[in-house]
Amino acid sequence: MKAAVLYEANAPLVIEHFDLPDIRDDQVRVRLMASGVCHSDWHIVKGEWVDVNRPPVILGHEGAGVVEEVGPAVRNLNVGDHVVLSWMRNCGLCEMCQVGYSNLCEEPWDHRGQPRFQDSDRQMKRMNALGTFSTETIVPQDIAIPIDREIPFAQAALVGCGVMTGVGAALNTAKVQAGKSVAVFGCGGVGLNVIQGATIAGAEPIIAVDILDNKLEMSRQFGATHTVNSAQVDPVEAIQQLTDGKGVHYAFEAIGLAPAPFKQAILCTRRRGVTVFVGHAPDNTPVDFDAKILALEKTVIGSMYGSCRPRLDFPRIFSLYKAGKLKLDELVTRVYPLEGVNEAFEALGRGEVARSVLDLN
Ligand SMILES: [Zn+2]
Ligand SMILES: [Zn+2]
Repeated sequence: MKAAVLYEANAPLVIEHFDLPDIRDDQVRVRLMASGVCHSDWHIVKGEWVDVNRPPVILGHEGAGVVEEVGPAVRNLNVGDHVVLSWMRNCGLCEMCQVGYSNLCEEPWDHRGQPRFQDSDRQMKRMNALGTFSTETIVPQDIAIPIDREIPFAQAALVGCGVMTGVGAALNTAKVQAGKSVAVFGCGGVGLNVIQGATIAGAEPIIAVDILDNKLEMSRQFGATHTVNSAQVDPVEAIQQLTDGKGVHYAFEAIGLAPAPFKQAILCTRRRGVTVFVGHAPDNTPVDFDAKILALEKTVIGSMYGSCRPRLDFPRIFSLYKAGKLKLDELVTRVYPLEGVNEAFEALGRGEVARSVLDLN
């Protein structure tokens, strides 16, 4: 198989060939058909996250494909099944798993025991033990979620990270209510999905905030009722003006680059407002605000992977898609071959795309 490897931060990825190891009893081998290029991959390329998935590593964690081989202990999958991969494993046993927040499983990502991809003289680790920037991968059975064959692979792949993260932040983490007001900072792959989650919930108004007009335009397609260009106006003031001076019921930060939008997302909520940090900031990003703001009974909460339980939530997203209530086709802005991965990162860096997808097979 071939895969895109990051050898060091801020260097281009390199396409290399590897031999796959044999699968273990509880694993499946997946021929990957599509992988989204996500901001989390980009954080690692830029060297902004040093704790996990440190290079050298095969990047990619948003993939879909076809099961090609199943281990003898695999129970719920067959050769030929179409699957979306979840980038987080859960143990099923810890407190968080038992209370329904398997996205916060207390067992950390476990790269030990996961097969590494072999070359003649070295082994290669894979992002989140997936490494979806490759033509094939091997994963434990529990993170390959079967899907209907009619769902196109590019669209399916995006549900594995960006769509689930955004839609889940609105529907699962914040539990946005119909008729309540929402502001979303950042209209990238995740922010657009927060907007569509809020749309599905029946929120009104839905205010999109970004510094790029092309992204604000895109946000309207996903349900934004108002747009604010935060490079031109103070977004907190603009949001207050749009909500009778009160601020929004819910604000989402879906950028994760710098402190300012996190703070603005707290300042623009009304009394008892809820701010959700969806964007994963670079390590050590301080957000400072006047502590007494929270005395207005405001809530600030983080969201991890849209508080999802992949086996329940992925099928839920695909039924909304099939019913025409959730957009996936419109998210696939560009398609590149695996060899185009560096171009895809450049387009992401320039803010040109909702999502680029690698067409892998
Ligand atoms: Zn991602
Ligand atoms: Zn657990």
